[in-house]
Parts: sequence; structure tokens; C-alpha cells
Amino acid sequence: MSALDWTKDGDGIAYQTCGNCKAVWYFHRNFCPECGTSTPTTLQASGRGTVHARTLVARAPTEELRAHAPYLIVLVDAEEGFRLMAHGDPALQIGDRVLARFAQFAGRKIPYFDKS
Ligand SMILES: [Zn+2]
Repeated sequence: MSALDWTKDGDGIAYQTCGNCKAVWYFHRNFCPECGTSTPTTLQASGRGTVHARTLVARAPTEELRAHAPYLIVLVDAEEGFRLMAHGDPALQIGDRVLARFAQFAGRKIPYFDKS
């Protein structure tokens, strides 16, 4: 069974962990960033986490995104121990417990966090 991964058009967040040193990380790699072990395990995240930081984007970086501004970018500490950047409900505050869903943003699938 492979983990659903929104970057591969699945409705899920995948992460990786190292069986050797127990490191946990988000961006897909073929080796552990901590100890170099070449057999990381890819797992399915629950989508639950806590808001670590928030940035309201008022001036979008591209013409395509300008139509969507303002929008909220959040850094979320996933309950599995990795951190990811995603979109979220503009009402979210630091420390809020959140749950991911998947939305279309400027024609792409993205993870989007709402208060849980
Ligand atoms: Zn490791």
C-alpha cells in the first residue's frame, strides 16, 4: 500500500521516517537527512496538527495568484512530528489545532487547513 500524496494528485499528506535513527521529515527523499540511511519509510499523515506560524499574503507573487489574495499561508506542526507549509482558513491563529483537506488553488491541488 502506498501513501496518498497530494503532490502526486492523491487526497493525503505523505511523510517519511527513518527506521535507523527515527528522524521524521516531509519532503520526499531517497535517504535519511539525519543519518544517511537509504531506506526511508513513506507513511500516511493523519492531516492533524497545530499552527506554528501564519502569514497573510496580501500581495501575491504572480499575476495568476493575485486574484486569490489575500490568502493565508500556515506552517503546521503535524502530529507525526514533521512541519509543512500549506494554505489555511484566514481566521486561523498560532496554536490552533487544525485538520487538512484538499482544495483547488490557482488550478492545482493543495492541502488546506481548517480549525478542528
Ligand atoms: Zn536516519
